[in-house]
Amino acid sequence: MTRPDPTLGIYVHVPFCRSKCPYCDFYSLRADDGTKAAYVSAVCGELETLKRVGGFVPPDLQGRQVESVYFGGGTPSALAAEQLSEMLHAVRRHYRLSPDAEVTAEVNPGLRDADAFFSVLAAAGFNRASVGMQSAVDAERRRLGRTAGFADVKRTVRAAKRSGIENLSVDLMLGVPGQTQASLSESADAALSLDITHLSAYILKLEPGTVFARRADTLGLPDEDAVCDMYLALCDRLERAGMRHYEISNFCFGDRVGRHNLRYWDGGDYLGIGPAAHSFAGGRRFYFPRSLDAFLQGAPPIDDGAGGDAEERLMLRLRLDEGLDLPAYYAEFGVRPTKGFEARCRELRAAGLLQPQETVLSLTPKGMLLSNTVITDLLIALFPEK
Ligand code: SF4
Repeated sequence: MTRPDPTLGIYVHVPFCRSKCPYCDFYSLRADDGTKAAYVSAVCGELETLKRVGGFVPPDLQGRQVESVYFGGGTPSALAAEQLSEMLHAVRRHYRLSPDAEVTAEVNPGLRDADAFFSVLAAAGFNRASVGMQSAVDAERRRLGRTAGFADVKRTVRAAKRSGIENLSVDLMLGVPGQTQASLSESADAALSLDITHLSAYILKLEPGTVFARRADTLGLPDEDAVCDMYLALCDRLERAGMRHYEISNFCFGDRVGRHNLRYWDGGDYLGIGPAAHSFAGGRRFYFPRSLDAFLQGAPPIDDGAGGDAEERLMLRLRLDEGLDLPAYYAEFGVRPTKGFEARCRELRAAGLLQPQETVLSLTPKGMLLSNTVITDLLIALFPEK
């Protein structure tokens, strides 16, 4: 955002998991109860003083209105509900939490007492949960390293609803070993039967250093064309069910967009607390080192340079169905469209990768599938000198 953002979103990373899933490269590890308790204290301390935050961070963060808080991981539900609540109370104590803020926790199925867990969260002010579903087919879930079955997913979602948390998201994975169009369709139907408000759909990527990347040839992964067909069929299925495909990987009913994540794509300010958590505020990017020990010992965040320029805005806004309003974009950043850019836009529209409107740049579902290539093409055409 070139204009200063008077609001803020807060992300708290919970870097704990019971075991490591074979495809995952998020920063997470196993920890004992003492380490978890020390971590909760460190996060609360950080929220109170921002003492480790360097001089590149705007000094007014604690005076901003906080419109979203997101506890992600790792596995936030690897902590006790009381510990998550304690961190949310610290946000409330030290920031101006908006009365209608969206407060989300990622939750994995298989909780010992899901009703008790969610009632504590709801009483503390959590109003949204994102449940790790991945697939409704238990054999696929097992291949992803998930021990809980789809029946546990259902139990988790129902318990959240009973507690009054009814803004519920689940995530699905595409390109899972052994997955077919039919099994994905079964998962999509099962997800819709849960009466969710939101669904995220991610294509499995083989991240370097993971077990899946090492064993790629033996996994029985669907080929690239099959995964593309799955993505397009899923978009179609969810849109027919009435969901809005508002971002490349995200769908919602009505206005239930994920407000916290929307902030990332919309150029809003956010503060990330915890190892490997990234922030963007006052035009600067910074992040905490990817080390639990370093975080517990008080290592400060690392400056990651300026952010929010014209190229970044184009990249992020094109992820959204609303796309990029070109006249407003040119005026805000003083960008002049090149002939090459206009010609490229025409070609991409003709190829069915961009929507037909000329003043708004936005991707079709096929364009979303090829978003990296389309966005790179547009950037090269608009900023040929860079
Ligand atoms: S539960 Fe999530 S964060 Fe933890 S290892 Fe599995 S995929 Fe990674």
